Amino acid sequence: MIVMKFGGTSVEDARAMNNVIDIIKREQARQPIVVISAIAGATNTLLKAASMSLEGQLDEAHARLNRLLERHVTIAENLIDDRATIQQLIMSFKRRFEELKNLCQGIALLGEHTTRSLDAIASVGERLSSLILAEALEQRGIPVELVDARSFIITSDQFTAATPLLEHIEVKIKEILPPIVQSGKIPVTQGFIGSTLKGVTSTLGRGGSDYTASIIGSTLGAQEIQIWTDVDGVLTADPRIVPQAQTLEVISFREASELAYFGAKVLHPSTILPAVEKKIPVIVLNSKKPDRGGTRIIANPPHSALSVKSIASKKGITVINIQSSRMLMAYGFLEMIFSIFNKYKTPVDLVSTSEVAVSLTIDNPTHLEQIVIELETAADVSVLTEKAIICAIGESLRSTGGVANRIFRALGDINVLMISQGASEINMSLVIEEEDIDEAVRRLHAEFFERKSA
Ligand code: ASP
Repeated sequence: MIVMKFGGTSVEDARAMNNVIDIIKREQARQPIVVISAIAGATNTLLKAASMSLEGQLDEAHARLNRLLERHVTIAENLIDDRATIQQLIMSFKRRFEELKNLCQGIALLGEHTTRSLDAIASVGERLSSLILAEALEQRGIPVELVDARSFIITSDQFTAATPLLEHIEVKIKEILPPIVQSGKIPVTQGFIGSTLKGVTSTLGRGGSDYTASIIGSTLGAQEIQIWTDVDGVLTADPRIVPQAQTLEVISFREASELAYFGAKVLHPSTILPAVEKKIPVIVLNSKKPDRGGTRIIANPPHSALSVKSIASKKGITVINIQSSRMLMAYGFLEMIFSIFNKYKTPVDLVSTSEVAVSLTIDNPTHLEQIVIELETAADVSVLTEKAIICAIGESLRSTGGVANRIFRALGDINVLMISQGASEINMSLVIEEEDIDEAVRRLHAEFFERKSA
């Protein structure tokens, strides 16, 4: 048994849905369970309609909903031949959109929306996309059963970011999904959505479909979980900076987690944790190019000959240098510094310390001014903006000598402002000027991936 999850861009139009159907067909013998996202942009549109209703722009909210309804109708019409089935689908869509308009009306009248109503609205995206896909598979002669994820993804009532209640989920999943698979049908279900113990619709938070797939796969001990997106997997660098970047065949969960900070547009590692803990491989694949192998993310991959697996970068970094002679041989200084960042809910990313100074980076400068004012009561503070982080990531980094030397040699005349070797020892991060970042990524990529000795 395998789990196949298709993201929004994989089902954005009839053509994409057709690709998905072909991909599912190829895997039919492996007893797939299919998890699907809303069509690309649908969740955003639904939530936007809710916020416009709140601001009293009900007409504009309705216009957006109508356009979304049209997109679903177009997909159904271009995907399915049977007229009666199309009519039935359109009727179901219209019913859902009537409900949506009522919910929006309620928000406009009350002048408030609850997180509970937002989840009711957002859930419609997945409910519609799954309806279309299940119908289209059926029409192609593939036996399927549409299963409402709200019958087994039982969650807390923290609407918009509900916690899955795994002990309840396990019972339900085992009760509902295996009999369908054993009867020779493919269960098609929605990612992202669930329901509380009282049966109220909830969601697992944005991007939550990967989480649904991972929960199903780990509960049923799937052979693998396929996450179908619109990228080839995890690459050796950002292809917009390095066009010759290559897809990595396998990476560790820890490498994937490090890369996620740098916005690797693949998946959020915490969502695949249930699968990784059960040692179920998660494979990231491109539904637009299904014959590419993708990237396998596994708990403990075999030792790699590559000392560095990927070069990641992030712009918009602010460096804060904090200097105080009071720090010398004293304790409690770091705690004092971090309590200020905590107070302003500002995550600190890189930290580098000496006896009398601490340098750290943040990527969200919203509260920078207040933070600096408070830090200045205890230390000398200087702030450097428009910096960037470049990071070499790889499990073998800690066991391979000379990597730092190669990094600095390759960077050549590019000025390094701060160095931090992560506690995990699988990344080495450097802060440089933002304007140098693309060139730095190209130089490191050339050093580690484009030379024979790499
Ligand atoms: N449709 C939801 C979102 O856009 C969940 C998902 O696609 O994973 O966040």
